[in-house]
Amino acid sequence: MKATMDKLVNLCKGRGIIFPGSEIYGGMGNTWDYGPIGVEIKNNIKRAWWKRFVQESDNSYGIDAAILMNSRVWEASGHTTSFSDPKMDCKFCKTRHRADNLIEAHSKGKVNPDTMTNEEMEAYIREHHVTCPKCGKSDFTPIRTFNLMFETSRGVTEEGQNTIYLRPETAQGEFVNFLNVQRTTRAKVPFGIGQIGKAFRNEITPGNFIFRTIEFEQMEHQWFCKKGTDSEYYNYFKKAAWDFLLDLGFDPEHLRYKDHDKLAHYAKAACDIQYLFPIGWSELNGIHNRTDYDLSRHSEFSGKNMEYTDPVTGEKYIPYVIEYSIGADRLMLAVLTEAYDEETLDNGETRVVMRFHPAVAAYKVAILPLQKNLGEKAREIYKKLAKSFMCTYDEAGSIGKRYRRQDEIGTPFCVTVDFDTANDNTVTVRDRDTMEQIRMPIDQLESYITDKIKF
Ligand code: ATP
Repeated sequence: MKATMDKLVNLCKGRGIIFPGSEIYGGMGNTWDYGPIGVEIKNNIKRAWWKRFVQESDNSYGIDAAILMNSRVWEASGHTTSFSDPKMDCKFCKTRHRADNLIEAHSKGKVNPDTMTNEEMEAYIREHHVTCPKCGKSDFTPIRTFNLMFETSRGVTEEGQNTIYLRPETAQGEFVNFLNVQRTTRAKVPFGIGQIGKAFRNEITPGNFIFRTIEFEQMEHQWFCKKGTDSEYYNYFKKAAWDFLLDLGFDPEHLRYKDHDKLAHYAKAACDIQYLFPIGWSELNGIHNRTDYDLSRHSEFSGKNMEYTDPVTGEKYIPYVIEYSIGADRLMLAVLTEAYDEETLDNGETRVVMRFHPAVAAYKVAILPLQKNLGEKAREIYKKLAKSFMCTYDEAGSIGKRYRRQDEIGTPFCVTVDFDTANDNTVTVRDRDTMEQIRMPIDQLESYITDKIKF
């Protein structure tokens, strides 16, 4: 693996993939803006996920629920009382830390803080003289729990104000719409609801580029099934989540499953898929068997009966839920890491090349006239292909420099328009990965590229 975080951040900034948020005002910590290339890549990642888990599933349906939800939703889900992290401040340099992260880092992953109470974490930190990563001192405040939900208020007048929250996960939108979706689609259990949308968390220790931010997008799929079939579907989604990553081009050596040691009280099973990020092995996505907890809680708090009635047997029951959840931005970071390559060429130069799956690449093809006076023909080709997929056009600089620019943003094909093109209507197509060039009639370009960029 050749990517480091610094190389990725610099490439992203320099090539219009991701910029620091509100940069001209000195930034806004841990927010990032996707640029012209980045927005395409991220949209393509989301499209690939949607295609796999909604479009290609014969019994999954998509929704797009509101970010702002009735506050009772978060009482029912348990977020109001327990969506918190164990926070500690360094008394010396005043930086804030998560106690569990301090223990994990100190023990180099050998001690699992997930199985500890707050008192046990405090004792561990004291007895092992765990130090502050910033100043090196070992003098912390006691642990305080810190709710990660962003609060805002709704209402015109002071008295009329109500506290509401920016959703910290998209999942609740799927749960509260379970009956709406089931009734309107006449879906039979088992069926799934998928959603892609923004989530917000007031993280104590955000950072590592887009790995952990305070505003991010989640892609979540909830599979509603009958108790007794849940373990089979849990295993199914563990594998489906893994296969999705392999199909995006991930090396299986860079992925691993990690079962949770401590389960949430309602969960029957939970695991993550971890990826070997430049910061080390870290969670990329989660798969959880959430039992009938969510729908039961919403039934209790809303007073609405969330039971499903089996149309054949007439049996009524609250389905179990298998949740598969992955951050679009975190997956983007993994995709960038995986794609990054540096290659030494025969002439001794180094080329940086992003070896994205063609379905993920921002532009599928770059149209490059060999000389400016071939521009008219080249633009004609651009206009034709741009009706089918994202293309870019570049006539500035030597052809070698233009190839390098496309390699750096991962454009899988470059089409060169030269003097023969006017006579025989053929062009040269260069492959990003092999750098091999083939000659092809213009009217075959569209089908050739369409075939190669399928996911
Ligand atoms: P972590 O342990 O990293 O805080 P989590 O277990 O709280 O993550 P979930 O609540 O299961 O995460 O969220 C599902 C997915 O959403 C994660 O696997 C990750 O891909 C993504 N995600 C969670 N928090 C963030 C964040 N602050 N920034 C970017 N992506 C996130």
